Amino acid sequence: QIVATAICRTDEHLRQGCFPDAEFPVIPGHEGAGIVESVGEGVTSVKPGDKVIPLCQPQCGECSFCLNPESNICQKSHLCKPQNLLPDKTSRFTCKGKQIHHFLWISTFAEYTVVPEYAVAKIDAAAPLDKVCLFGCGFSTGYGAAINTAKVKPGSTCAIFGLGGVGLSAVMGCKAAGASRIIGVDINKDKFAKAKELGATDCINPRDFKKPIQEVLTEMTGQGVDYSFEVTGHADTMIAALASCNMSTGVCVMVGLLDSGSEISIDPMLLLTGRTWKGTVLGGMTLKKII
Ligand code: NAD
Ligand code: ZN
Repeated sequence: QIVATAICRTDEHLRQGCFPDAEFPVIPGHEGAGIVESVGEGVTSVKPGDKVIPLCQPQCGECSFCLNPESNICQKSHLCKPQNLLPDKTSRFTCKGKQIHHFLWISTFAEYTVVPEYAVAKIDAAAPLDKVCLFGCGFSTGYGAAINTAKVKPGSTCAIFGLGGVGLSAVMGCKAAGASRIIGVDINKDKFAKAKELGATDCINPRDFKKPIQEVLTEMTGQGVDYSFEVTGHADTMIAALASCNMSTGVCVMVGLLDSGSEISIDPMLLLTGRTWKGTVLGGMTLKKII
């Protein structure tokens, strides 16, 4: 039984057709928390009444990725094979006799859902479900992008493009890692107050400047930031985020999801000088270990 679910932009990307393997009609939602209502035969890790978080990135515990402590992706994830139907190739949702597809096996925009055992994690019985549902994607992704993927160092300078739920969590991760300057970048200035409350030291709107935002950030910081995070899901901001980190040791983390079929073209010199460009899924978190 799903008790709480949050909305992440990835659900909107699904609606817009950014997942080439997705099938419609579908029940989206992948950031939820609930209570086990019943279990199938052979299920041992959860029992009725347990509070749980469904995992949009499953953890089968058996594939070569799951067995690699440096990886947080499972080969049963949608990234490796579509999860539009449950592993037994059936759907548990119908509407007026018509089959409805699952999303990432968890479809949390439903009052009840059915998930494989390896796509659910038991949590503390006292956990407030309306808050911990954010561990299912947004918070883990942004916070983990800073802590696990970028490995932000104390005293460093960071720029976060996009101050939605995921970007704000990246701000929190940078702050927790001890960054001394955290610059929030968003075209919506209404996001700035919350970002500053959570640790951003400066907030800028690219639309307030005539020059490209990467030039603005480079001027603000001397050589560019130490770590940049793209959390909007646009190709142009991916390039701007990459160019905003310093040419020698700068690390840029790609968090935002691009439209299916998008391609990015960059000047190779951006990487040749030493910058690192990385991507992240769920901020490198293996949720069964942290919740
Ligand atoms: P959101 O819509 O809540 O926030 C996006 C923010 O970006 C908004 O504040 C918006 O004003 C801002 N923005 C839009 N265009 C901009 C631009 N050109 N320059 C600066 N700011 C701009 O989205 P969210 O739920 O926080 O998700 C952010 C992205 O992260 C999405 O693309 C989502 O799919 C992706 N995501 C990736 C993972 C992962 O595992 N890699 C996990 C979760 C979400
Ligand atoms: Zn998400």
